[in-house]
Amino acid sequence: MFRLAEHFQRMTGNARMLHMALPHSVDELCDITVELLRRNAFTTDVYVRPLVYKATEEIGIRFHNLRDGFMIVTVPFGAYVDTTAGIRCQVSSWRRMDDNVAPPRSKSSGIYVNSALAKTEAVLNGFDEAIVLTQDGHVSEGSAENIFIVRNGDLVTPPVSQNIVEGITRETLMTLAREELGIEVVERAVDRSELYVADEVLLCGTGAEVSPVIEIDRRAIGDGEPGAITRRLQGLYFGVCKGEDDRHADWLTPVIR
Ligand code: PMP
Repeated sequence: MFRLAEHFQRMTGNARMLHMALPHSVDELCDITVELLRRNAFTTDVYVRPLVYKATEEIGIRFHNLRDGFMIVTVPFGAYVDTTAGIRCQVSSWRRMDDNVAPPRSKSSGIYVNSALAKTEAVLNGFDEAIVLTQDGHVSEGSAENIFIVRNGDLVTPPVSQNIVEGITRETLMTLAREELGIEVVERAVDRSELYVADEVLLCGTGAEVSPVIEIDRRAIGDGEPGAITRRLQGLYFGVCKGEDDRHADWLTPVIR
């Protein structure tokens, strides 16, 4: 499992934001997940989907004075988006939900109406994925991925105040870029038009892994092929994720059948 404790730490905070509590400590949740995977005896990559929800059988729109329920589903998983040839994206006509409307960093399921509208629009329009702008028109993220662009040798990504999910893959790539590639990582607001002049663009997430973007709004990114820095980051990411590179063994939780 990749960065399992960090996922449950994020979830614990997000649950608090929504007046919910997870029924176990982070350590216990890690143990439960490992046991669940062990008993399922998977032979593929697996996506783990924990969910905390309101379980009281009563009609009412509120968070307080309702019983919480908790579940974890594990599903065999392949590539969520292409990670080899590169994907074609559209800047969505849907804007990112704002922190003061309903906070996207909460990862609450209701927020994903926003993501689903963007994803479906993009795919029905013939693209692979959507890039969503904030209410004030800055780049926020993909429909279910964080975004990085490469400009003048720097890796640039919108800061956490741009209504993004505080992605664990995003943080992983920032660490790998700084530590292993010696590349400057800059968190700053990104304009839409910067996407078109970027040397490279990539999307990243637990499901999406590291996906090179080769076209946005029918404009080629760089030379229209996955970029060199993206490729190197992707190689490092897959190496540490699959345990082939032991430089970040602390990010891995083994599941022994
Ligand atoms: N943004 C959104 C909207 C997401 O749903 C996800 C996937 N959970 C991400 C970014 C990436 O987050 P992570 O790297 O933690 O999976």
